[in-house]
Amino acid sequence: MTSLEPNERYSRQILFAGIGPEGQNKLAGARIAIVGCGATGSAIASLLARAGVGTIRIIDRDYVEPSNLQRQNLFDEADAAESVPKAIAASRKIAAFNSEIVVEPNVADLTPANADALLAGVDLILDGTDNFETRYLINDFAVKNALPWIYTAAVGSYGVTMNILPGRTACLACIFPDPPQGTFETCETAGVLGSAVNLAASIASAEAIKVLVGAEKEIRRTLLSFDLWQNEQAEVATAKPTPGCRACDRQEFPYLAGEGRPHITLCGRNSVQIHERHRPVDLVEMSERLRPHGMVRHNDFVLKFWHEPYEMTLFPDGRAIIKGTTDTAVARSLYARYVGN
Ligand SMILES: [Zn+2]
Repeated sequence: MTSLEPNERYSRQILFAGIGPEGQNKLAGARIAIVGCGATGSAIASLLARAGVGTIRIIDRDYVEPSNLQRQNLFDEADAAESVPKAIAASRKIAAFNSEIVVEPNVADLTPANADALLAGVDLILDGTDNFETRYLINDFAVKNALPWIYTAAVGSYGVTMNILPGRTACLACIFPDPPQGTFETCETAGVLGSAVNLAASIASAEAIKVLVGAEKEIRRTLLSFDLWQNEQAEVATAKPTPGCRACDRQEFPYLAGEGRPHITLCGRNSVQIHERHRPVDLVEMSERLRPHGMVRHNDFVLKFWHEPYEMTLFPDGRAIIKGTTDTAVARSLYARYVGN
């Protein structure tokens, strides 16, 4: 492969006055973490990898499914057919268009226990998650460690994004002290437009570049939301931390302490995740063992077992996702019967 001169690859971006050669050098030296690599995470990773951010850590435990392809722009049909973990598929795809940056894939969920290890040493954290528990965990980690992060979410035709510069602007807990209660719309229930995701991700990526090149004055200090279908948009000022905020003011970080641990039922997917068992599983051996009981397929990363009406996805560390039920007792007994206690 011919190696491109950096000045050639990034020439159009260097010409842009807000970045210039100095800004491009800062991007090359920057390290970011993207937590969650679904639709928003893919779009952000794609934009920032092409822009030349030097090191991109991608954290996602999920695997590619056919329903992702409508909007998750780093994945293709082969990734879905092979159930490749999203972090791995994303790093392969990025390497194909920019082999000069470093991508660090982590097939993992961000948890209070691994937050230090997974988020250490980065300059900026970007939100590609689909749940408030993980966002509060990122917020706690970022405020505690004075690291900037960017909140981004999209559902239906709606998108929202906000920059958090700890100590200088409001944080997520300043604006939303508590997670939304009761049932609320998710991509699984309300659907989502790829265009809404990509708009939110584009705005977040532009803000990320401002943060990384130090365009202090231009960094947006509002919570910006829009609805592409209804042609609406709104901004709420976030210029200052809210007095009394548990994170900014009182320095209390309950999510980092593990008090908001994500629950075991996945977001509206008619499925249960078993994640409390962490005993390694040999996927080759397990595949042989399961073969008499249903259809089974595996690769290096994941095993899939179809046992009507259930579908089990098993990972090498012993975690499993069981589709076809939301009853944790049913899922647990299926797991115990076929994988072990
Ligand atoms: Zn705050």
